[in-house]
Amino acid sequence: MPLDVTRPLGPTRPSRLAVARQESPTMARGFAAPAMPVARPRLPEARAILPYLQEIDANHWYANHGLLWLRLQSRLAAHFGVAPEAVALTANATLGLALALRASLVAPGRKCLMPAWTFVATAGAAREAGLVPHFADVDSTTWALDPDAVEARPDLGEIGAILVVAPFGRPLDTARWDALSERTGIPVIIDAAAAFDALRAGGPMPVGRCPVIVSLHATKAFGIGEGGVVLSQDPEWMERLRRLSSFGFLGSREAVLAGTNAKMSEYAAAIGLAALDAWPETRAGWLSLTRHYADALAEDARLPPSPGFGEDWVSATLSVLWPADRLDGVAALEREGISTLRWWGDGCHRHSAYADCPRDPLPATDSIARRAIGLPFWRDMTATQVDYICDVARRVAGPVSVPLRARRTVPALRALA
Ligand SMILES: *Cc1c(COP(=O)(O)O)cnc(C)c1O
Repeated sequence: MPLDVTRPLGPTRPSRLAVARQESPTMARGFAAPAMPVARPRLPEARAILPYLQEIDANHWYANHGLLWLRLQSRLAAHFGVAPEAVALTANATLGLALALRASLVAPGRKCLMPAWTFVATAGAAREAGLVPHFADVDSTTWALDPDAVEARPDLGEIGAILVVAPFGRPLDTARWDALSERTGIPVIIDAAAAFDALRAGGPMPVGRCPVIVSLHATKAFGIGEGGVVLSQDPEWMERLRRLSSFGFLGSREAVLAGTNAKMSEYAAAIGLAALDAWPETRAGWLSLTRHYADALAEDARLPPSPGFGEDWVSATLSVLWPADRLDGVAALEREGISTLRWWGDGCHRHSAYADCPRDPLPATDSIARRAIGLPFWRDMTATQVDYICDVARRVAGPVSVPLRARRTVPALRALA
C-alpha cells in the first residue's frame, strides 16, 4: 500500500500522536507526517535472500520445479505437518483455489456455495473454474459458514462444491467439514488464505481430508510477495492439481488435462526459503503485537476484535467490530492520523461483478461487513502506537457501556514497549 507522505495531519494534533508518530518508522517527524497505515508488510531483506539467489545462479534452474522450489515444498510440509507429496506450490492462492475446484471434478455450470463474507478472490476462483458462486450467510459469532446450517440446506442437490473460508486466518474445524463432505458427497475446499499459522503442525487447525489453500501474498502473515500453497493428502487429487497447474503435464510433455500455468517460480521459492528462516522471529513479532492489541481491546467490550483474535494463532490483520450507532466515528480516526480499511468491503456479494450471483438472505454478513473496521496492524508497531490507536478508537466509538475490568499484564509485550 503506497504511503502518502505529503498528506498533512494539521497543526492541532494531540501530543500522544506526536509520540506515536515519532516512534513510527514510516513517519517523517514533524508537521507533514502521513497517517499510520493499516498495513506495512515487511518481507525478507535482500541480503537474506541473496544466498538463495546465488544458488539459482549456480544451478541455472529458474522455473519448472527447481531445486529451491523442491526444498521449499519439503520445508513447508514440515511446517504444516504433512508429507512433501501433500504440498503443491502455486503462483498465488486464487489460482490454487480455482485449480482445486477443477481437480475436484466439479462439472462446469454447477453452483459453488461460499460465504458472502470473504475476499473477492473466493468468488473469482469459482468463476475461473466455470462455477456459479452462491453466497450463503456466515455465523455471526464465528464469521464463517456453519457446517450444520450447510448440511441442513434443502438445496444440497444443486451444490457442486463448497468453498469454506477461514476468516482472517481464524482456524476452522476441518474434521467437521471432512465429515460433511463424506456424508453429502459434495467436495469441500478450504480457503485458508490467511491461516498459515493456524495450520502449523500441532496447531489449532490440522490438515484433514479436504484440500486447503494458503496464500503467501505480501499482506499475509507469512508473505513472499505472490505465492500460494495447496495442501491435500489425497495422492490422486494432488496429481490432478499438479497437472492442472503445469499445462496438464506431469513427468512428460503429454497434456493429459487442459491445464494452465500456475507454477511458482524459483525466485519466489528463494524468498520463501528466506522467509521460512525468519519465520520464528516473524511469528514472535505478530504474536506480541496481537497480544498487546488483544489486551488493550479487552479493557472494555466496546470494540471486540474479530473472532478468535488473540487465541493460539496469528495473522496479519486486525478488524474490530464497530458499534453500529457510532460508525461516523470511523472517519474521526482518520482525522487523528489513524488509517482504517474495511478489508472485505460490503461483502463479496456487493461487488458489481457478483451482483447477479444467487444468494441466501445475508443479515449476519451485512451487519458484520458494515461494522468490521481494519485498524493499523504491522510488525514494527510500538506499544505506544497501539495504545494510542485503542484510546482514540474507544473515544470516537462512543462512551464505555460496560465496566472496565482489571488490565492483564502480558509479559511478552514488554519487548514491544
Ligand atoms: C488473500 C486472500 C485470497 C487471495 O490470495 P492470493 O494469494 O492473493 O491470490 C483469497 N482468499 C482470501 C480469504 C484471502 O484473504
